[in-house]
Amino acid sequence: MSDAAAQIIREIVSKGYQIEPRAFDLLLHLLRDTDPTKLIQEIIKDKGEENRTIRVEDVERLVKRADTDVVKEVELELSPPDFKILRSYEDVKVLEGVEGYHHLFLSRYRKLLELIKKRRDSGSLRSIEEANSSKAPTRVAGLVYSKSVRRGAAVIVLEDETGRVEAAAFDSSVVERMQEVPLDSMVTASITSGKRNIYIVDSISLPDIPDHVPNMSKKRVYAALTSDLHVGNKYFLKQAFDAFIKWLGRRDDEIAARIRYLLICGDVVDGVGVYPNQEKELETADLKQQFNAVADLLKKVPQDINIFLTPGNHEPVRQAVPQPPIPKEYIGSSYLQNVFLVSNPAWIELEGVRVLMYHGRSLEDVVATTPGLRVERPALAMKVLLKARHLAPIYGRRTPILPTSEDLLVIDEIPDIFHSGHLHILDSERYRGCLLINSGTWQSQTSYQQDMGINPTPAILPVVDLSTLRVLTFDFIKLQRQQLGPE
Ligand code: FE
Ligand code: ZN
Repeated sequence: MSDAAAQIIREIVSKGYQIEPRAFDLLLHLLRDTDPTKLIQEIIKDKGEENRTIRVEDVERLVKRADTDVVKEVELELSPPDFKILRSYEDVKVLEGVEGYHHLFLSRYRKLLELIKKRRDSGSLRSIEEANSSKAPTRVAGLVYSKSVRRGAAVIVLEDETGRVEAAAFDSSVVERMQEVPLDSMVTASITSGKRNIYIVDSISLPDIPDHVPNMSKKRVYAALTSDLHVGNKYFLKQAFDAFIKWLGRRDDEIAARIRYLLICGDVVDGVGVYPNQEKELETADLKQQFNAVADLLKKVPQDINIFLTPGNHEPVRQAVPQPPIPKEYIGSSYLQNVFLVSNPAWIELEGVRVLMYHGRSLEDVVATTPGLRVERPALAMKVLLKARHLAPIYGRRTPILPTSEDLLVIDEIPDIFHSGHLHILDSERYRGCLLINSGTWQSQTSYQQDMGINPTPAILPVVDLSTLRVLTFDFIKLQRQQLGPE
């Protein structure tokens, strides 16, 4: 209990009164650092001696005389949190083998075709079969089956339910756009039949998102976004993380006191047997111990902060996405009642603001296959996923994808906030009204990262004001506060 809280209680009890919890919260909020004696005396004087329980109305009555707006604002802040888990994939229908993937890609194609049809005039869209038998310019939609770029020219093969078409581009701007298109993603393209039965791509585009007016909270409450703690690894910055948790409990800090949500986007533990020679870097190779350490940290987070936790590629759950939530036994969430274990990806709604949480393994694949993208700017890779309207378009590289009958990785709605991690570099972008944040890490540079020339940005926490979607960052090593991105 803080000093201020203890003082209020002492004051009230010594006068022979008691106070309702909500009235106590309100009082604590109003008083902040000021001396409660005078205010409490007035409340008691007002109330008389018959009823000795101080209620919210008693506190309000007094404050209203001075400032009605203050009461309104404080009341709003004290109102219960408003959140929903919109989608968390616990039991998904898994198919098998080649047939399974066939279904998955068919679902991907159909879901994305629906999206495209909703967005644009699709009257002119033709099937690939029709395009193949036509000489006239046609517009088709299909998944990118293959793609090659050589000496300023590019060849692409698109596929839909009716067949495949191969088409080439020579125009430099079209070639450039083709380079940005991930393999296996959905595109629309205008093609014309050129000489010797070669089709020419006149234009090509990803499904993309339209301009979006983001939902915002009525209350000025904040969400802290983080990921990639890697507890159990020698490089986990425990001191800095402890400082962060301590700060969360600081009710006298204007920002910390308004944080109601903590989003953790995977890699909370370092795991065991995740990469070669991992044991050399582990503090403990016991998974149970790693998770106990996590639970010990989360226990210290104030109870009125709701925590949402997705797995990442270091967690002991199925690696193929969508990944199921971390099993409850690991985190002991039966006693951590403010911890919600969700799948990867997951959709949640906080005070009306829709958040898409996705650990982000496929960002590696996007960076590796898209010219011009770098690990230093993970938010730009996230932008590609958003434009492709898919969380893991590229099949067969680093990201294992689960063959499900419905493709659950299609971004079929527009998130207000798209939160990822995995690349260990804090970055943010705004794209057509959507806020993209890659939340960095709490692990300092590992020897592997040093060899690879990757410079992580550890212990910097982005905090989003849900009423404006502005982002502040807090550096728990340098102990600095900053505004992230444009106002
Ligand atoms: Fe990680
Ligand atoms: Zn990861």
